[in-house]
Amino acid sequence: MTETLKIPILDLQPQILAHWDELNAAFQRVLRSGQFILGPEEKAFERECAAYLGVEHAIGLNSGTDALFIALRALNIGEGDEVITTPFSFFATAEAITHVGATPVFVDIQENSFNIDPEKVKAAITPRTKAIIPVHLFGRPCAIDALTGIAAKANIPIVEDCAQSFGARISGSAMGSRGHFGCYSFFPTKNLNAFGDGGLIATNDAHLAELARMLRMHGSRKKYYNEMAGYNSRLDEIQAAMLRIKLPHLDSWNESRVRVAVAYGDRLAGLAGVQAPEVVDGHVFHQYTIRIRSGRRDAVHAFLANEGIGTMIYYPVPIHRLKFYQEAYADTQCPVAEQAAGEVLSLPIWPEMSIETVDRVVDILKRALAAGNI
Ligand SMILES: *Cc1c(COP(=O)(O)O)cnc(C)c1O
Repeated sequence: MTETLKIPILDLQPQILAHWDELNAAFQRVLRSGQFILGPEEKAFERECAAYLGVEHAIGLNSGTDALFIALRALNIGEGDEVITTPFSFFATAEAITHVGATPVFVDIQENSFNIDPEKVKAAITPRTKAIIPVHLFGRPCAIDALTGIAAKANIPIVEDCAQSFGARISGSAMGSRGHFGCYSFFPTKNLNAFGDGGLIATNDAHLAELARMLRMHGSRKKYYNEMAGYNSRLDEIQAAMLRIKLPHLDSWNESRVRVAVAYGDRLAGLAGVQAPEVVDGHVFHQYTIRIRSGRRDAVHAFLANEGIGTMIYYPVPIHRLKFYQEAYADTQCPVAEQAAGEVLSLPIWPEMSIETVDRVVDILKRALAAGNI
């Protein structure tokens, strides 16, 4: 019997191997420097990110979760405040709101983009609304122009969750540069990824930047002169040094992801029961997420797994229906997100994925759909 060739949902090895020597040199440079927290690599990476994103300030942090949390703290959001967000995201988006003591208000998504619906955001604004957190889910820019218009009129800050969209741009401007804060994650599966946890906050507001810098360092501007209760949330020197090697290649990696997405789209066009994602301007395809109609998603997922194809369901339960929130949000209806949770399936994608591998995934997907017992 020939061994079946397994296809993972994400393969990080090609980019590591392609830059092996540089990564090793950077690693050794940090080891020799003896500086591991808030040293020269971190400062240089912040400067390089600010330039890349086109923002005034970039601040390295422990994680994308911390970026959201620190953004809300810097905006002085807490008990009694409402923050509007999407129910179709990773839990961390809402978790950050809960952690500062505020109340998440879940607003339904658009059918085609999986992103928060600006018209529904407008309708959900109350005098207690203190921020809006849209997510550029799967790397697709949300309707940021409509949202910034609505938010500006109501004088409400926007905190963009860019964990899945580093490098996504609309008309040349980076996602994360339009709102008060852009929050990024360098978790190993993200488009720009570290060898461990990491995150970053971007802002054009000098005062908010200073607050965020204080919050990541125990509420101090100067060591041992603490002015408020902050946190310990810094991007390590080793991670910063590694990320500095990767950042210059990000645009080309994101373009390669789009090439893979286009190849998938060509092959999935017209396939009954499957809806492929649109390839829109600025999309960086953190995930290539299709919909499988007619209640067959779980069976197709299992069929592909059985054939050695790695796929994932992002996300099987909308946030307002997760155990932690379901009781408090029993009356919240987000039918578009609820339907999406039952239909989505993310297929393998990474920058170096070959078109032959795309063909193989699509062939097996077609076999899954044709199987009588599904
Ligand atoms: C990954 C992710 C986060 C959290 O980032 P971490 O670095 O893992 O803390 C937040 N929001 C979204 C949408 C994410 O995908």
